[in-house]
Formats: sequence, C-alpha cells, structure tokens
Amino acid sequence: MSMIYHPQKYKIADKAMHPFIDDGEIDEILQEAQEPSKAQVRAVIQKSLDKNRLSLHETAILVNANEPELIQEIKSAAKVLKERVYGKRIVLFAPLYIGNLCINNCTYCGFKADNKAQKRITLTEDDLREEVKSLEDAGHKRLILVYGEHPRYNAKFIAESVKTVYSVKSNKGEIRRVNINAAPLDVEGFKIVKAAGIGTYQIFQETYHHETYLKVHKSGVKRDYDWRITGLDRAMEAGIDDLGIGALLGLYDWRFEVLGLLRHVNHFEAVYNVGPHTISFPRIQAASGIQVNKKWAVSDADFTRLVAILRLAVPYTGLILTAREPAQIRDEVLQYGVSQIDGGTHIELKGYSQTEQGQDMDKEQFEIKDDRSLNEVMEELVNTGFIPSFCTACYRLNRTGEHFMEFSVPGFIKRFCQPNAMLTLAEYLEDYAPPSTKEKGYRLIEKELHNYEDPNFKEKLMERLDKIKTGERDLYF
Ligand code: SAM
Ligand code: SF4
Repeated sequence: MSMIYHPQKYKIADKAMHPFIDDGEIDEILQEAQEPSKAQVRAVIQKSLDKNRLSLHETAILVNANEPELIQEIKSAAKVLKERVYGKRIVLFAPLYIGNLCINNCTYCGFKADNKAQKRITLTEDDLREEVKSLEDAGHKRLILVYGEHPRYNAKFIAESVKTVYSVKSNKGEIRRVNINAAPLDVEGFKIVKAAGIGTYQIFQETYHHETYLKVHKSGVKRDYDWRITGLDRAMEAGIDDLGIGALLGLYDWRFEVLGLLRHVNHFEAVYNVGPHTISFPRIQAASGIQVNKKWAVSDADFTRLVAILRLAVPYTGLILTAREPAQIRDEVLQYGVSQIDGGTHIELKGYSQTEQGQDMDKEQFEIKDDRSLNEVMEELVNTGFIPSFCTACYRLNRTGEHFMEFSVPGFIKRFCQPNAMLTLAEYLEDYAPPSTKEKGYRLIEKELHNYEDPNFKEKLMERLDKIKTGERDLYF
C-alpha cells in the first residue's frame, strides 16, 4: 500500500503525517477476532457499559458476533448506554444545499461532473436568504451547509454563505449554528471559514479501504485519498476543533468501515487529545446517473447492528443519521445510539423555498426516504419520550474541542444539555408548533421537570421557561 504524503503541498503538521489508516492492520484485526466466544462478546459489552472506549480489537469482536442472541445483547446494551450518556435529548438540524457544481467523479453521487442530466445550480445570495427564511419559519436553529467540490466554492465563498445565513432573521427565527459539509481545504482556507463562525466541519472519507477508494473516485481532486484523510488535520491546525467524520456505507465491507472510523477517532485522540465531535454513516441511496455495485449493500439488519456497535465503541461521540433513511429505521436506531437527526429535509437546490416542486433527482444529490415535516418529526420524538433539542449553547460559549464539557464534567448533561433542550423545545412550541404538538410538548417538559430534585436549579429552569412564554428568547445554561 502506498501512503505518499506531500508536506509542502498539504502544509500540515508532521505529527499528523503518520499513515494512520493501514488496511493490512484492519484486515488482520478483523481476522483475529473471527468467531468470538459468547464470553468474549459479553466482556466487551460490559466494558462499554462501564463507559469505556473500546479498542479496535474489542470492536472487531463485536462486528464478528453473528449469533442473533449476541446481536440482541449488543443492541440492548447500546440502548442502555445511550440513555446513560445522552439522556433523552435528540439534536435537530437541517441540511441546506448551496451548490451542485462539482469537478469530481464519485461513482455514487448525482452531482458527479460526468452526470450531464444534473441541472447545475448555485444559490445566489437572494436565493440563500429565501431558503434560510423558510427554514427559520419552520423552527430550525441549526443548519449544515452542503457544497459540491468546485473552485467556485472556495473558502471565501463558503465563509460568505455562512455569514449570509447568520444575518437572516425572520420574525423570532434565527440560525444559531452553521455547520459545513464541503471539500477539504488548505490550512489558510480553513482559517477563513473558521473566522465566519462555523460549528462543525464535516468531511466523510467515504471508504477507508484504499483500493475501493480509487475504484469509486474516478477523477478529480477527491481521488487523492491522502489529501482527503488529512483534511481534518488541516482543519485542526487552523483552529477548528469541532470535526465530523463519516463513511458512506455500501462501497466496501461495513465491518472494515466501522474499524476505519474507529481508527480515525483514535488518530484524533492520540494526536490532538480530542476525538471528532460526530460520526456519520450514510447508506448509499439511488441518485441520478449512478449505478452502484450492490455487492457491499448494507441490509437493514446489519445497519441497525452497526449503529449499536458504534455507540458501544465510542460512547462519547455524537452519531448522526439523516433523512436518507426511512422513518421506521430512523426511529429504531434512535434507540440504539443516534444523537442527531435532520427534520423537514429538502435536498434539492432551492427546495425549502420552492416546496411545491417535490423531489427532482436531477436537482439533488440522491433520493431521501424520510420526507416528514419538521413538526411531524418533533411530534414523533415527543410521543416516544425524546426531548428534541435545538441547543447551540456549548458552541456559542466556546465549550468545544478539548474544552468540550458535555462528557467530561460530571452531571453536565443533566444540568446543561437537558435543560437547554427543554428551553429550545419551549421556544419551538411557542413560535412554531400547532396546538396539539404544543400541548404534548409542554406535557413532556412538565414530566421532565419532576426529575429535578435540586429545588434551586428547578426554580431557575422554571423561571426561564416562564420568560420564554412571555416572549424572551435564546436563554440557556
Ligand atoms: N462534495 C463534498 C464532498 O464530497 O465531501 C461535500 C459533501 S457531499 C455533497 C455529501 C456527502 O453525501 C458525501 O460525502 C457522501 O458521503 C454523501 N453521498 C454522496 N452520494 C450519495 C448517495 N448516492 N447516497 C447517499 N449519500 C451520498
Ligand atoms: Fe462531488 Fe461530493 Fe458528489 Fe463527490 S460526493 S461528486 S465530491 S458532490
């Protein structure tokens, strides 16, 4: 396997140059863990339930546990662990596609350069304002902006679009956190984007398997595995310490990808003392102009299982699941470990302001399977006892990266995250929810309030909830 780095070209610190994805090592670890005993699997599950990170070897034991009884134990443990670590919150966001110009030829993507059927659109500033207004009017507070890879979408362009998004205010609505999913930049570029006030920068490696990577990235900058895998190291060097990694499932063996993701997490922890904030694991969906080899397609059974395994392997890393998946799969894996989902999603360009158009595969990257409105998703969450959260407090108070307190400060979730989820839910109920959702939402808040034993804290929280009812906004702990 060749791992050629170009320090001058990539300008990244030497410490990040270590070839941290070694396909041979991952294969070997998977091989060694073949046919684990029940006792081995149960020992790993117990380690995770004690809130310990799992090693590559331990995770390989879980991915090789094929007996239905053990798979069920993995899922049940993930459910317990998720509630212990995250409580009942689910963070909500919406993706906003800015432009589908692309110079790459990723075989799986409707935006690939060779797809002549794709109508190429880049939102103008006015288009962008319209889209953001529609998102705010639905109740959104957190967005992820998505771009094809193209010289036009350089760092300055990305930074300008971020600033535009933050500047749009519609009635009581505002966007309080903008995340980015775009091509890797150089260090200078990441600095420009950071200065615009972004939250997380996401780059998915797609597949960690080198040979497959070359097969599916036919041409363009993205064909360079090393440039892509070191992208988030450059982001770190530029001071962006809130990062998202991901693998596109269906390109290669999911077992290998799970270990690849974990190896990537280990890299960040070893080099920067902080892991990525989130992991994404989209399954390939139908898209205009693509034909995907079904050999590595991930079944629903394997998909739900791998989410549970990821939860156990990295108890403190957020897991993101998008509307690519149908509602019933989303509802199931919310139980096992997913902590962030999108709602009311439209991925066709201008899809939020021109909703009558429906899905048009030639104006979007792929097909989505969950087309519920934000309110429908909120209702479903509330009905099942989850607290939908639009909280952006940590990022706005600089509680990120090494200072990310969510998991390092005992009781932080109960004293900060959970109350902030209730406060942002109350804002939504006041400003956007129809009466039936409002009633159910406040019933849930009442129920949660009973769990607070400290009378002083409970009083403070109730005071803030009352202030929201009388029109104050953006209150958080
Ligand atoms: N163009 C940038 C890039 O490739 O990194 C930005 C992100 S791309 C627009 C967003 C992500 O969508 C990709 O990283 C890939 O994982 C995912 N994706 C592409 N084609 C897909 C498909 N057919 N089904 C599901 N996800 C897909
Ligand atoms: Fe372009 Fe990204 Fe699609 Fe690849 S995945 S074709 S880089 S938009």
